[in-house]
Amino acid sequence: MAIPTNIQGKVILAAAGPGDPDLITVKATRWLQQADVVLTDRLVSNDILTSYVNPSAEIIYVGKQCRKGNSTPQEIINALMCTHALAGKLVVRLKGGDVSVFSNILDELQVLKESNIAYEIVPGVTSALGAAAYAGMPLTARGYSTAVRLMTYYKSDIVPDDYWKELASTKDTLVFYMSAETVEGIVTKLIRNGVSNDTFIAVIEQATTPLQQVHAVNIYDFEKIQDIHFLSPSLVVVGRVAALHHEFAWLKNSEERKHYFKPVATIQNNSNNNKKAHVSRA
Ligand code: SAH
Repeated sequence: MAIPTNIQGKVILAAAGPGDPDLITVKATRWLQQADVVLTDRLVSNDILTSYVNPSAEIIYVGKQCRKGNSTPQEIINALMCTHALAGKLVVRLKGGDVSVFSNILDELQVLKESNIAYEIVPGVTSALGAAAYAGMPLTARGYSTAVRLMTYYKSDIVPDDYWKELASTKDTLVFYMSAETVEGIVTKLIRNGVSNDTFIAVIEQATTPLQQVHAVNIYDFEKIQDIHFLSPSLVVVGRVAALHHEFAWLKNSEERKHYFKPVATIQNNSNNNKKAHVSRA
């Protein structure tokens, strides 16, 4: 669908995809080319900013990295979005993965609605789907699983105790976001609740980026990978489908262990130093 020109005072909540810059949608790139202001998350490839954003647009980094305590408060993001849109600017709020999966989109929608600001939502490839594809691990492979649950276990009270029994007995594929640091807890609870011994667990680091690494083992062999300090961002996939990685992987694990996405602090320091947050446009 063609995007009309001369749109003013509007916010586009757009997805950037999980890492590989080619996984952004054509529609999101069209909006980036027209944007006056881009408010970007941390988990967005720098290549997307340098390749698609209109060179005269202002890029503002509003990343979150809760465990590092460097997050941009949601109120500031809301205020930036509204102030620029009410000044007649076209604002693209760019989010990693898909816009609505484990994001703060609801806060942003509420504030846009209250402020009577027009908006559109552009979906994207969530990291679970990107990771599954780039790890050769079909999430609902016939004969293996008929459903996928997108979950998180970043703190223990998020999954009630009595739910683990159900999770341990289901044939569904479980994908945990924001849970690489708590993965041992997931394994312990599932084993304690009698998860079957054909269940595999995969931790997929920096999926779809050139630094992707996949660690997939039988859940009862988790000790083989438990000492790895998983690099952020990582996803945890539990289910029989995780074993398919060993048969169908088409991408080698990166030989380098370093971060693809910049930490929030570095980005914010850069943007504080410059009135406009410059990104290099190689
Ligand atoms: N909206 C995003 C999720 C944001 S929550 C999406 O749809 O993917 C952040 C979590 O997403 C991370 O902690 C990690 O679990 C996951 N994630 C995002 N990008 C990832 C990537 N490239 N590789 C692995 N996990 C990723």
